[in-house]
Amino acid sequence: MTLSALNADVIVDQLNAGELKATDCVQYFLDRIQTHDAEINAFVSISQTALEQAEAIDQRRKAGQTVGCLAGLPIAIKDGICVSGQPTTAGSKMLEKFTPPYDATIVERLKSADAIIIGKTNMDEFAMGSSTENSFFGPTHNPWATDRVPGGSSGGSAACVASRLAPVAIGSDTGGSIRQPASFCGITGLKPTYGSVSRYGLIAFASSLDQIGPMTRTAKESALLMSVIAGFDPRDSTSSKAQITDCLSGLETPLNGIRIGVCRNQFNDGLDQEVETKINDATSVFKLLGAEIKEIELPHSQYAVAAYYVIAPCEASSNLARYDGVRYTFRAPGNDLEEMYRNTRGQGFGNEVKQRIMLGTYALSSGYYEAYYLKASKVRRMIKQDYDDAFQKVDLILGPTTPTPAFKLGEHAEDPLAMYLADVYTVSANLAGIPAISVPVGQSKNGLPIGLQLQGRAFEENTLLRAAHQFQNVTLWHDTSPSQPWRTQT
Ligand code: GLN
Repeated sequence: MTLSALNADVIVDQLNAGELKATDCVQYFLDRIQTHDAEINAFVSISQTALEQAEAIDQRRKAGQTVGCLAGLPIAIKDGICVSGQPTTAGSKMLEKFTPPYDATIVERLKSADAIIIGKTNMDEFAMGSSTENSFFGPTHNPWATDRVPGGSSGGSAACVASRLAPVAIGSDTGGSIRQPASFCGITGLKPTYGSVSRYGLIAFASSLDQIGPMTRTAKESALLMSVIAGFDPRDSTSSKAQITDCLSGLETPLNGIRIGVCRNQFNDGLDQEVETKINDATSVFKLLGAEIKEIELPHSQYAVAAYYVIAPCEASSNLARYDGVRYTFRAPGNDLEEMYRNTRGQGFGNEVKQRIMLGTYALSSGYYEAYYLKASKVRRMIKQDYDDAFQKVDLILGPTTPTPAFKLGEHAEDPLAMYLADVYTVSANLAGIPAISVPVGQSKNGLPIGLQLQGRAFEENTLLRAAHQFQNVTLWHDTSPSQPWRTQT
């Protein structure tokens, strides 16, 4: 089998067994990027030191020294996450020349496990979007159909895993940005519990919602990455001391007796027929695996998009105030301080980001705060309460990740609201802080991947990953790759 067909856990095993050298592994993926990324545009930058690091790991192995649990495994990192000495742009002109002097905590953890960061992946500017079309570096293309979007905002990470330009990647999810692109690109994407993975070094979008997580082909690979990146971090004030349960050890536990809730009210008009069919088929598979399927209600989920699109822009308007032409890289000159600010922010931010800053500033302004932010926060509380009630009756909640498969590039250009509404199934998990995973469960007639979402109780990523892994043990959707030219050869 060629390397592109191997899952990360197998690559790690081969590296450990001495059957594969880290340098060969890294070179293989660098070559694939070189050949195919012009057409996909998954990467914003490629590491100049990856091969050197691989050589050092090979040397250490040869010398019989201990190495980390991911030693030699190439990994791609979303460009909104700081990697010391490497450009970190968040997909924005504002940070085009920004090179952070420090590593995000998750990067530090991956490096101490001896994983090799191969490059930084494309994203919607400051993670605002669902298509990766809002990137200063041009859109990423969906490897399944290059005239379609890969989803967003972690579209580069999803596309690079789907086309095997890297075995695994890291993304971030504020309202669906790991799960929705995972769904559009036919891979597995996990948004962990709020507070379970440190966000130190993540360029902030909406701090009460942002979460970093793995984007991989399989649930098992996600569990492997979680074992490295999750855990308390004193440098992130929202990091939780409550730890997620070990994700790897329980993967093979059968699903007998697990209770899975389905909220039929959510299967409404906006849901594509083909997606609904695949979700129903997958539900039958879970039944065969021993799960008990129960109907549940999430009465306030219909208000989730409205609440999210108040809260997220409010927090963004505050977080992005720091890009003033003084503290970070981009500055457009002006005759006085105010003009310099105006020019810098006018030229440095793209339209979607400006729109959100304006919306957020308006909603937070005196006299409007109660009507918008406070009201949205109350809705958020009720959404959380719905989940608390539901999780008394069930262990997991199942549904579609997105209402449709990947849409065409440019399809929503004139109508941002249509794009916002497509976040209907993903934003609730962020508002409630609970973990959620998207797993590939089929394809549309025209060959586009369809994803299923499972949501779970806070800090019970182990149950989500176990259910996803059990599903993947008996299905092959996660193993299906896009067609030529980046097809995985076996
Ligand atoms: N699509 C959502 C938005 O545009 C979510 C983005 C994200 O999760 N970063 O805000």
